[in-house]
Amino acid sequence: MNDAIKTVWEAIDNDRDYVVELTRDLVKIPSVNPKFQQEPDINRESEVQDLLQARLDGMGFETERWDVFPDRPNVVADLPGNEDNSLILCGHVDVVPVGDASAWQRDPFGGEIADGRIWGRGAVDMKGGVAACIAAAHALKTAGISLAGRLSIHTVVDEEAGGFGAMDAVRRGKLAKSAIIAEPTWGDIVPAEGGLTWARVTIFGKQAHAGWRFNSIWPQHHTPDRLEPGVNAVELAARFIYALRDFESARCRNRAHPLVPAGLATINPGVMRGGAGLGEDGEPVLMTNAAIIPDVATIMLDYKFMPDENFEDVKAEFEAFLHSFAGTDPWMRDHPPKVEWDMFGLNFPPMNTPVDHPLINSLVERAGQAQVTPPVIKGFEAVTDAAHYAGAGVIPVIYGASGDGFHGNNECVEIDSLVESTKVIAAAVIDMCKVN
Ligand SMILES: [Zn+2]
Repeated sequence: MNDAIKTVWEAIDNDRDYVVELTRDLVKIPSVNPKFQQEPDINRESEVQDLLQARLDGMGFETERWDVFPDRPNVVADLPGNEDNSLILCGHVDVVPVGDASAWQRDPFGGEIADGRIWGRGAVDMKGGVAACIAAAHALKTAGISLAGRLSIHTVVDEEAGGFGAMDAVRRGKLAKSAIIAEPTWGDIVPAEGGLTWARVTIFGKQAHAGWRFNSIWPQHHTPDRLEPGVNAVELAARFIYALRDFESARCRNRAHPLVPAGLATINPGVMRGGAGLGEDGEPVLMTNAAIIPDVATIMLDYKFMPDENFEDVKAEFEAFLHSFAGTDPWMRDHPPKVEWDMFGLNFPPMNTPVDHPLINSLVERAGQAQVTPPVIKGFEAVTDAAHYAGAGVIPVIYGASGDGFHGNNECVEIDSLVESTKVIAAAVIDMCKVN
C-alpha cells in the first residue's frame, strides 16, 4: 500500500467521529422528496445542502449551487486538477417518506446511535454515503495530500423520484473521467445496472354507441340491416397485453449479462386507460361512460433493458414488434398503434463499466484491504444516479456502506462499514486522481 493511502487511513481511524457525526447531522435534517410527500417541515433538501456546501467551502472546494426545482438545489464542488485523472464522488440528499412512524423503534429523524448503528430515515440511503464522500475528502486534507486530478463532489436532489438532480448536473456538463456513486452496496462493488425508461403505447379504435355493438357479433355475416360497428380500443389493448407478454418473455430468455439476474429485461404494463376521445395529454378524455365503444387505449410500460443493450436498439426492436402486432389486424394495419418513449422525462441509461477498469481494480483492492468482509463484484437490479453519469460518458461504479431498512422502517447504517467505506473511497480517490 502506498504511503499516501496509509496516511489517509490513519487520519480516518483517528477521527471516526467525523463521518459518524456528519451522518447524524444530515439525518436530523428531514429531506423527504416533495414529489412523494409535501410538508415544508420535512422537505428540507436545501438545508442539507447548506450544511454540505459550508463543509466543502471550508475544505477549499470551489462550490456551485443551483435550483433544479424551486428551493431544491444541487451542489457541485470541485478541487481543481487535471482532467485525465478527474473523479466525481456523488450522493443524493433526498430521502423517501418515513411511512408509518409508529412502526419505527426510534425517531426517524433522530440520528440516534445504538447497536453500532446510526438510525433514521436516509441513514443508509444515502446520507451515510454522502457523509463518507465528504469525510474521505476531509481526511485527504487532514493528511495533507495534494491530488493531481480534479476531485468533484456532487450532492444532488431528487434521486428517489427519477434522478432529475443528477440528470441536470450532467446536462450542465458536470462530468469527469469516472465516478463513484456512494449508494449502499454492503461493501460490494457494483459496476453494472440495466437501463430503464417509461414508454406509452396508444391504441386507436373507432368510437360508436355501445348499442351498435351487436353489429360486431358476427362481423363476417354483414347483412344490409347491420351497421358498420365501432372498433373497441380496449379490446385491442387486451390483445396487445398478451402479445407483449410473449415479446417480453422472448426478450428476457434471449439476453444475459454476467452481473445481473437472467430475465432482467422486463416490460411491465403498469398503467392502462381506455375511453373516448384523445386528449391533449395523450390520454383518453372520457373514461366514465361505458355506453361508448372506446376509441383510445393507452398502456404505460416500465421498460427495462440489459446493461449492455443500446437504447436505440431497444426502441427499434419494440417498434418492429408493435408494427408486426398491428399487422395481425386489418383495422390496426390502417390505424397503427404508436409508442412514445421517455414519458415524464424518465430515462435511465444502462451502466456497464468493464470489470477490469482501473476504478474497479482500485475498489476491489482497497475494499479487500479495508473491509472485514471481502467485496464481491455484482450488478444491480434497480436503477440509481449512476445511470445518468454513464449516459453522459462518465465511467461510474456504485459502492457504499451496509445497513438496513432502506425504503422501509427502522433504517440504519452500520458505523464500522461507514468508516470502512470512507477509507475505500479515500483510497480510490488517491488511485484515480493520483498524488502530486
Ligand atoms: Zn439512494
